[in-house]
Amino acid sequence: MNAAKRRLIFERLRAANPNPRSELEHGSPYELLVAVVLSAQATDKSVNIATEKLFKVANTPQAMVKLGVEGLIPYIASIGLYRNKAKNVVALSEMIVREHGGEVPRDRESLEKLPGVGRKSANVVMNVAFGEPTIAVDTHVFRVANRTGLAPGKDPAEVEQNLLKVTPEEFRLNAHHWLILHGRYTCIARLPKCPVCPIVDLCEFKHKTPGALLPLAEAEAEHPMVKGKPPKPAVAPDATASGKRGRPPVAATSARAPAAQNVASTARKGRLSGTTVGARKPAAAPRGAAKRTRTNQR
Ligand code: SF4
Repeated sequence: MNAAKRRLIFERLRAANPNPRSELEHGSPYELLVAVVLSAQATDKSVNIATEKLFKVANTPQAMVKLGVEGLIPYIASIGLYRNKAKNVVALSEMIVREHGGEVPRDRESLEKLPGVGRKSANVVMNVAFGEPTIAVDTHVFRVANRTGLAPGKDPAEVEQNLLKVTPEEFRLNAHHWLILHGRYTCIARLPKCPVCPIVDLCEFKHKTPGALLPLAEAEAEHPMVKGKPPKPAVAPDATASGKRGRPPVAATSARAPAAQNVASTARKGRLSGTTVGARKPAAAPRGAAKRTRTNQR
């Protein structure tokens, strides 16, 4: 991808959301740090529900130390890996009190020494709390950077380095937010919403979702049950040639989008048999639904 295209991508994402904000509710660097640690492998929504009550009783390192691990657990028990996270939150609070005078440190080295804080979390805190132009690479940013061709890389560290290299300075402060929100709501994992994507003409992903599957993509985005299911293994590209059941044309061209293949296949079966499968009910929308949805979104 060339520099002009990259610039256009950021310009469009900025135009759609000029002042992006973290979706983790927080009122101080310390609250943000705790929310970020709790958000590993959890949704921002689930973290916000937990911290709404937690921060009323403990929103400083001193109060968290006083609350202790056993006192903290009931507030965060709805979040995955909560026991480990409770230990980390109390331990990092102790360290902030002991070594940083009760203030969240601003530098990467100190942040990464805190229990439960890795490079990605440090990047988020430095960017959101202290306005540093860091680019945290989570699963959404990693996917968008690779799919679009914006800054491909084999792991998050490589994507981060490449993004820092190719992102024009004026976009660097908000790049993380634009990319994460784009990945979370438009370029979703299993069936990206390409027909309504603001950068569809710039994105270099070869297997874009066709317009006819937009209602399915919308359903994917809205149904956590569907989102949470691991994709089935991809069928080998030569499965049809070897005499196994053929796949629909869109899926046959999509070696890198097994989820899209599965959803499309399920939808087709549902339409043919007049039934739908669990959370994929929206797949059975009446003919013309795709057209209406697209029209509404313009
Ligand atoms: S066109 Fe599709 S694959 Fe490309 S960024 Fe948009 S949603 Fe993602």
